[in-house]
Amino acid sequence: MSRALPADYHVHTFLCKHAEGTPADYVAAAKARGIPEICFADHVPAPDGYDPGTRMDIGRFPEYVEMVSALRAGTDPEVLFGIEADYYEGCRTFLESWLPEQDFDLVLGSVHFIAEWGFDHPDNIAVWETVDVAETWRKYFELVGALADTGLFDILGHTDIPKKFGHRLDEKTLAELAEPALDRVATAGMAVELNTGGLRYPAGEIYPSRFLLELCRARDIPIVFGSDAHAADCVGHAFEQAVKLAADTGYTESLRFRGRKGTPVPLPRIQSTAT
Ligand code: ZN
Ligand code: FE
Ligand code: FE
Ligand code: ZN
Repeated sequence: MSRALPADYHVHTFLCKHAEGTPADYVAAAKARGIPEICFADHVPAPDGYDPGTRMDIGRFPEYVEMVSALRAGTDPEVLFGIEADYYEGCRTFLESWLPEQDFDLVLGSVHFIAEWGFDHPDNIAVWETVDVAETWRKYFELVGALADTGLFDILGHTDIPKKFGHRLDEKTLAELAEPALDRVATAGMAVELNTGGLRYPAGEIYPSRFLLELCRARDIPIVFGSDAHAADCVGHAFEQAVKLAADTGYTESLRFRGRKGTPVPLPRIQSTAT
C-alpha cells in the first residue's frame, strides 16, 4: 500500500517559548492524521545570545533530547530528531562544533533576521513600511546563499519567507535575486522544504511558491515536506496541497532523512479530488 501522506519534517515544541504542546502531543496528532513520520525541528539554542526570546535555552536542550528520545521507539508514526538552526553572521562559532556532536536526523537551515531585524516576526511588521522591499529580498537571498555555503545545513527552511506578510516581488526581480542563492543551495547538496506554514499567514501560499519551486526543480534540488507546526493541530497541515504542488512542478520523489542522509522515496499518490 502506498503512503497516503508524506513525512512532516518541521514541527516545534513548547521549549522554543512561542509554540505549544509536548512532543507527545505532536506525535499523537501525526498518528491521528495518518502522517507516517514526524521530525522535531525546534528552534536551535544560541549561547551567543542571538534572539533568546524565540528559541530553547541551551540548558533545556537535554530535556528536548529526552522527550523526543522517549518517543523514538514508536513506528506509527516514526519519530525523528532534528533542529531548525538559524543562519546569521557569527552562527558558525557555535554551530560548527555543536551540530556534529548531536544525534540529528536532519538540520533545517533558516534565515529569520536581516541584521537586527526579525523580519518574519509579527511584532516587527511595521519595519516593512520603512524599508525597500526589493532590497530586503536581495539581502535575504544573499543570506540564504551564505547559509548554503557553510555546508552546515541539510534542508533550506521556508525558501521565500519574506512574502509571509504579503511583501512580494515581480517574478523577473524574484528570479534575479533567488537564482544565485538557489545555485548555491544546489551546489551544497541541500534540499528545500515545502513548508505549508505560509498558508496560515497573509502570504496565503506554500513556501516556496510554484514559480520558485520550478527554479529548484530545474536545479535538481530535492524536496521534503514540513508543516512548521507551532501547535499540534497543525501537524501535516495542507499536505495534500503540498504534494500536489510538488507533482505539478514535476517532482516524483521526496527525501527520507536518517542520520543527516537523505534517500529518495516516491511521492505519495494523492486523490485528484483532494486539495
Ligand atoms: Zn517558530
Ligand atoms: Fe523558521
Ligand atoms: Fe519552524
Ligand atoms: Zn519556522
